[in-house]
Amino acid sequence: MNVTFFGAAHEVTGSCHLVDTGAEKILFDCGMFQGGQFNEQKNHEDFGFDPASLDAVVVSHAHLDHTGRIPKLVRDGFRGPIYGTHGTLELAELIWKDAYHIMKYNNKKTGDPVLYTEEDVTRAMSQCHAQSYRTPFSIGSATIVLKDAGHIFGSSFIELTSGGKTIAFSGDMGNENVPILQDSEALSPVDFLICESTYGDRLHEDERMRKDILLELVKEGVRRGGTIMMPAFSLERTQEILYMLDEMAEEDKTLPQFPIFLDSPLAIDAMPTYTTYTDYYDKDAKEKHMQGNDFFKFKQLTITRTVEESKAINTVPSPKMIIAGSGMMNGGRIMHHAMRYLSDPKSTLIIVGYQAEGTLGRRLYEGAENVRIFNEHIPVHCTIKAIGALSAHGDQDKMLDWIGSSGTAPQKVCFVHGDDHAATELAHKTRDRYGVKTIVPEFGEKVEVE
Ligand SMILES: [Zn+2]
Repeated sequence: MNVTFFGAAHEVTGSCHLVDTGAEKILFDCGMFQGGQFNEQKNHEDFGFDPASLDAVVVSHAHLDHTGRIPKLVRDGFRGPIYGTHGTLELAELIWKDAYHIMKYNNKKTGDPVLYTEEDVTRAMSQCHAQSYRTPFSIGSATIVLKDAGHIFGSSFIELTSGGKTIAFSGDMGNENVPILQDSEALSPVDFLICESTYGDRLHEDERMRKDILLELVKEGVRRGGTIMMPAFSLERTQEILYMLDEMAEEDKTLPQFPIFLDSPLAIDAMPTYTTYTDYYDKDAKEKHMQGNDFFKFKQLTITRTVEESKAINTVPSPKMIIAGSGMMNGGRIMHHAMRYLSDPKSTLIIVGYQAEGTLGRRLYEGAENVRIFNEHIPVHCTIKAIGALSAHGDQDKMLDWIGSSGTAPQKVCFVHGDDHAATELAHKTRDRYGVKTIVPEFGEKVEVE
């Protein structure tokens, strides 16, 4: 058995790893590459393998950088089954449709080519076969189990056994004690691990402080009297933030009343999935649900689905808070709010997720004084804050613990889904702690499972 890396090699996006069991070819994830452009040129290139030769695709979770090229894979000849949890596949379908609309919009504006058509999305949907957590299923000689990764709703890590060897793929590993989600499960004893390393060189703030930091930043922003912008990934961060804001409003009656806008059609469309699979909830969320407390609806919250409703936010006096995608500010409605409020010294931008190199979010995070949005020059005068503890990814300590969570560390660990520094540092730390072989594979590199 061997694994070849066709994405997320020395970078965070484009997750795509080909497992060859000797009898079957199984693809783990097929995500979009995302940097400064929503739809990077790299997405249009050949996969590096023949899509028609694949027996199956198994997806770890719905995020675009893990599923976004699946409709293209189908367009290019893949006809086999696509496996993932029920939550993952439902959300992936929303993500594909949303991405198609963004690409169509960009195509009209700039002529950028779209990656796939609506028909490709429909076809991909017809190839989806949803699975339950912890319930083994077969792909030829291989047995697959999906376990909860605690990263986003429905997210999993994948364990595959074939020919007496077991390999695992972390997908994206969640942070500890996040709202709504259960914590990530322990890894089984495996021979070989493909492991994400997004925050492989960083430690987050104490997660117990998470809500306090958010509350403080929001209060500060309200005191300044401006607009609080929160670019959020439509799946998960948004729902978790709403959950925390709802709790805040309930627990802290001194919190000034100000409107909160959820300005993300994708996040709004994802709500039914969150309310369907309540068995994915953690203990607190289950209790709230049992008590009939809908944590996605509260007094201050206004949902703005249409473009007109979104534009009307501008006319609402400050202070106000806007949660909008995209999370890395490389497209979506947040761009329009950023154009309006980045130059306002009273306003605040709160960054709550990973910002890839080349994105507007990253430039702002790094302190850019001027930025360009839709070819317009915008001076940055607002306050910019970031909360590491709100990240959807485990930090270095979490990853190191998880790698050894079965009691026996895998013999070989390949680090993907991290930039050079993060992947290399986590590889060194893993080698030092467990004495195992670590690799940071190159794009196209084939690694044997021993
Ligand atoms: Zn993810």
